Amino acid sequence: MRVVVIGTGPAGITAAETLRNLDPSGSVVVLSSEPFPPYSPPAMADHFLSGREQTLFWKGEDISDRLGIKERRDVVVEAVDVDNKEVVLSGGERIGYEGLVIASGSRLYAPIDGAEYPGVLNFKSLRTAEALVERVRSGEARNALIVGSGFIGTELAILLTDLGVEVKMVERLSWVMPRVLDSQTAEIAEKALVERGVRLQFGALVTQFVGDPRKPAVRFENGEEESADLVVAATGVKPHVEFLDGSGVAVNWGIQVDDRMFTSVPSVVAAGDVAEAADWLTGERYVHAIFPNAVVQGRLAAMNLLGIESRYEGAEAMNSLKHLGVPIVAMGTMSNPDETVSFRSDDALRTIYLRDGRIIGVQLAGDISSAGLYRSLMLRRTNVEHFRNELADPSFEVARLVFAAPSEMVA
Ligand SMILES: Cc1cc2nc3c(=O)[nH]c(=O)nc-3n(C[C@H](O)[C@H](O)[C@H](O)COP(=O)(O)OP(=O)(O)OC[C@H]3O[C@@H](n4cnc5c(N)ncnc54)[C@H](O)[C@@H]3O)c2cc1C
Repeated sequence: MRVVVIGTGPAGITAAETLRNLDPSGSVVVLSSEPFPPYSPPAMADHFLSGREQTLFWKGEDISDRLGIKERRDVVVEAVDVDNKEVVLSGGERIGYEGLVIASGSRLYAPIDGAEYPGVLNFKSLRTAEALVERVRSGEARNALIVGSGFIGTELAILLTDLGVEVKMVERLSWVMPRVLDSQTAEIAEKALVERGVRLQFGALVTQFVGDPRKPAVRFENGEEESADLVVAATGVKPHVEFLDGSGVAVNWGIQVDDRMFTSVPSVVAAGDVAEAADWLTGERYVHAIFPNAVVQGRLAAMNLLGIESRYEGAEAMNSLKHLGVPIVAMGTMSNPDETVSFRSDDALRTIYLRDGRIIGVQLAGDISSAGLYRSLMLRRTNVEHFRNELADPSFEVARLVFAAPSEMVA
């Protein structure tokens, strides 16, 4: 099969690798709007700190040569013509396909006036991250104002303080990473951030980016302005779907896919941050923008495109913070539990969210050694009713109980 893959992020390059392995006589063309080999965004911070390239270019810089696929960098897909089965590049070049994988990922989402302003930086792609770090390395930037305290904002705050920049992070809600952490777990993250020198301001709604590109600023809801050498938007991510306007590929927030990753158009699959897949636990369809989901979806999308039927069991919601100084893992959901169980010691906090006797979410800070066990209980939908009170206790031998009597507990 002749396949075009839009995107060489974790989803796109995994799809390409799968296509090559399962269909050695087919042809694969992968397209990236960036000038780099396929890279891993989670490894960017470490790359800028340590200079290491191995984890950044996680498949090896020569992956396309090794696979025998055609990789084109710095090309932008502007449209998909599904009637003629062609992708259209900016400049007008058309590339025909028999099968199409859309793995165009996500970009910064900053619904704030002036966000497109050249002085507003972001850490979403390697290209934008390089531009940002270059301002620090050249000595131009000694302080930074990060708008948004999600995982990307927090990771960047850590990187910039490690690079010697004074960082202030402003958040419109009341604690850091509010979409994935509960307030108590966030408190532990905040303490670690403050200890590293990051200044935090909550309840601060930025309504506008203003100022000169060399001295940008933000305006808050109350009319006050604050400037910094670096002003960074870290307000969220949005699927890269603009080039699909008018194509017939059904898009909600992300591309709508079925459980084989097929879009509404035959021969077109989608995977990764661009796709709206079902949640493993709740079945709810939304974009689960994390690396492991992108890899699994990329593989499945490629298999199904080749006619090897493989159904997606659902995406996981899971985030971990590695560089904070205190390990933190958040998985599942915190919404509508009928009960929570928690355990706190001087240096650790575990909170388990339960609904109908099953784990729906877990937050661990300080000690994350049981993350795999909780994840397994959650994904297997194990009924934990009769040991729920001990569930968060680190000395409790959940593993022994679960694996000794699975039939009793797994409904
Ligand atoms: C700083 C940072 C830290 C992160 N940390 C973690 C973490 O710790 N754990 C975790 O699980 N996840 C993390 N993530 C999220 C994870 O990186 C993403 O979920 C993952 O990269 C999604 O892969 P993808 O292939 O779907 O999209 P992307 O990685 O976004 O790749 C999209 C690709 O599409 C290309 N593209 C887009 N539009 C076009 C176009 N029109 N024409 C041609 N090419 C196009 C881009 O050039 C790129 O190659 C992090 C993300 C960032 C930014």
